[in-house]
Amino acid sequence: MNEVIILFEGYSNDLGNGKLDANCSCTLIKGLKNVIVDTMTAWDRQKLIDALKSHHISPEDINYVICTHSHADHIGNNNLFTNADQHFIGSCIQNRTIFHELIQNQTVVLCDGIAISTTPGHTYDDITVQVDSKVGDKKVRIAITGDLFEKELDIFNPLIWKKLGRPELVKTQAKNRLTVVTWADYIVPGHGAMFKVTDQIRKLLFDQINEFQ
Ligand SMILES: [Zn+2]
Repeated sequence: MNEVIILFEGYSNDLGNGKLDANCSCTLIKGLKNVIVDTMTAWDRQKLIDALKSHHISPEDINYVICTHSHADHIGNNNLFTNADQHFIGSCIQNRTIFHELIQNQTVVLCDGIAISTTPGHTYDDITVQVDSKVGDKKVRIAITGDLFEKELDIFNPLIWKKLGRPELVKTQAKNRLTVVTWADYIVPGHGAMFKVTDQIRKLLFDQINEFQ
């Protein structure tokens, strides 16, 4: 069974004057494969190494690097993980100098219980990681979404995610947010704490789609 460990909880604070203080959620998946999702900013190198060490993992032990999209706060330490088989940077899959693209609406299974699907909206290239895991004794499916979901609060105040994503993709993002909550029990958002998906959340996101009709 895959273990989902949130090494660092993401956050974002509006400082005014167009400035934002933000760092991403950085998640380790330990299972058949070791996966790191979103590698924070370039200034977080040592703290990332230390956090992995506290879970008995060294950068060389990471099999896959997944960046939910290519913004600077999600890719800053990818070069710690040159032993990995593949780096997913949004929908672009990289191994050294070889690149190829994930096909839209395609789901790629990395190993038992870990899959990736394309979920554009915040950018054109967002991907979401689907992990079969456990919370307590209960089997659950966790979605690590990057900034498709900024934080739990953006469900109740959609302006939070709408003003941060590509304006021309607002409808696409709303649809992909709804798709994710149809299968996810928990969401690890790009810049906030993990939260449980409730029926109230599913209904709210369904209603928010109707605003575009
Ligand atoms: Zn972000």
